[in-house]
Amino acid sequence: MTGLDADVVVVGAGPAGLTVAGDLARAGRSVILLERRSTVNPASRAFAVMPRTLELFDARGLAEDLVASGHRAPGVTVFAGARVDLTHLDTPYRFVLITPQSNVDAALAHYATTHGADVRRGVEVVALRQDADGVTLTARPTGGGPPVDWHARYAVGADGAHSSVRTLIGVEFPGKTLMSSIVLADVKLANGPTGSGLTVGSTRNVFGFLAPYGRHDADGSWYRAMVWDRHRQAPDSVPPSDSEITDALTRAVDSDLRLLDVGWRSRFHCDERQVARYRHGRVFLVGDAAHVHSPMGGQGMNTGIQDAVNLAWKIDAVLGGAPDHLLDTYHDERHPIGKRVLLQSGFMARGITLHPRPARWLRNLVVPRLFRIPRVRDAVAGSFSGVTLRYRRVHGANALVGTRATQIPLVAGRLTEIQRRPGFVLVRERGADLIDGYDLLHAERADTGPAVLVRPDGYIGWAGDSTDTVAMISALRQGGTRALAR
Ligand SMILES: Cc1cc2nc3c(=O)[nH]c(=O)nc-3n(C[C@H](O)[C@H](O)[C@H](O)COP(=O)(O)OP(=O)(O)OC[C@H]3O[C@@H](n4cnc5c(N)ncnc54)[C@H](O)[C@@H]3O)c2cc1C
Repeated sequence: MTGLDADVVVVGAGPAGLTVAGDLARAGRSVILLERRSTVNPASRAFAVMPRTLELFDARGLAEDLVASGHRAPGVTVFAGARVDLTHLDTPYRFVLITPQSNVDAALAHYATTHGADVRRGVEVVALRQDADGVTLTARPTGGGPPVDWHARYAVGADGAHSSVRTLIGVEFPGKTLMSSIVLADVKLANGPTGSGLTVGSTRNVFGFLAPYGRHDADGSWYRAMVWDRHRQAPDSVPPSDSEITDALTRAVDSDLRLLDVGWRSRFHCDERQVARYRHGRVFLVGDAAHVHSPMGGQGMNTGIQDAVNLAWKIDAVLGGAPDHLLDTYHDERHPIGKRVLLQSGFMARGITLHPRPARWLRNLVVPRLFRIPRVRDAVAGSFSGVTLRYRRVHGANALVGTRATQIPLVAGRLTEIQRRPGFVLVRERGADLIDGYDLLHAERADTGPAVLVRPDGYIGWAGDSTDTVAMISALRQGGTRALAR
């Protein structure tokens, strides 16, 4: 391999790619991001930002503005009174933030470029090869001109469901189509639902969903609508008509909402697919390039951003001298999460669109009662929101390892504020002396818990007695060699 252009080349400037690029750049790595589109994708696709993603955005200084620009939905009633209720979660964000994906993409693009990621738009990656030292990607300007080679230590394929990187490294995307002819649209309604929550309605043949954007005109309000009609199936290329949207919505929510205007609209099908491995040598797959599933449950963008956050600090650590096997833990930790997301969003889609009458009757009888049991309610909300996610237990390690550290009470400030600077945070026991000699961020617990070493993605990497420096150094060696070297 000839000279390097960057430590990492990221392909695709969607939410996953922008997050990887931003985090690596913030950590001081050189990053080139290659994006086929010449401008930010204006399509309003995902609209739900989950609480765990908001916590991660807070650790990047992005949450406040984004929350101010959107609408808070404390839960959603999926059918027959069965409600996913986020109001009991242990997080500062006990709601789903409703905001167009274009707002999230713009915030992340700003984050990435502010920290120095070199974002090149209007270039399409068409070839990739890797050897023992690095990766070479060939990109062709979409406006014409000769292809250019880019060399880097690692490459990240964040190029969406139809990922070129995945194809170029010969990786299959096994799975199947779950639903077709789903219509998404931004609609202005004269008689839209007035509550602060999300509205879901379904019959045996039709499904409708409305999320308020919190934008009001004199004659009506704007919503994100998603509709599906079992008997009105068309290929993705057929644009949905106003009457198709109105008809399905009216039947699904059983009320005349009076459609006044339709902004962006799109018809799509949804697949359930996941790659078998997220790491292929020096190439990693994140976001939709690694997994796709039903949009019901609002998981796609959120899971991709969380993949990205998990991967970025590991690449940074290995570039700084941590052992290569740390990179394998990206697959080990995130693949099971992706699998669970496929299962739960598929379960929700199948549950809502259930057709046989006896099965719907049984569903309506059992599920709402189950969801009212506090433990079930919080397990469901925790899983969809991402806040109860934990990584697998490490044999012999403290049970806290792999859990989220975000809500540990501190003597001063909160963890997500401290994490606006990159690196590991050592949260020492209350009253314990500051430990010098390592390039760590520091905090002090306000409760009686043990010292914890918090990974840059907000999960606990080690827990114990802060005077046990041997154990802590061993944990740092695995994932934070740069902190030791400084
Ligand atoms: C119609 C539609 C509706 C959706 N609705 C929802 C929803 O309601 N809720 C939800 O959570 N999710 C939803 N999703 C999914 C959500 O939008 C995705 O999960 C999310 O955008 C994935 O982010 P990503 O960064 O992985 O990929 P993407 O956002 O797809 O970004 C990939 C980027 O890679 C670029 N690219 C592709 N190939 C190349 C190449 N060869 N070279 C350079 N660049 C390349 C693309 O131009 C694109 O900008 C929807 C998706 C679609 C298509």
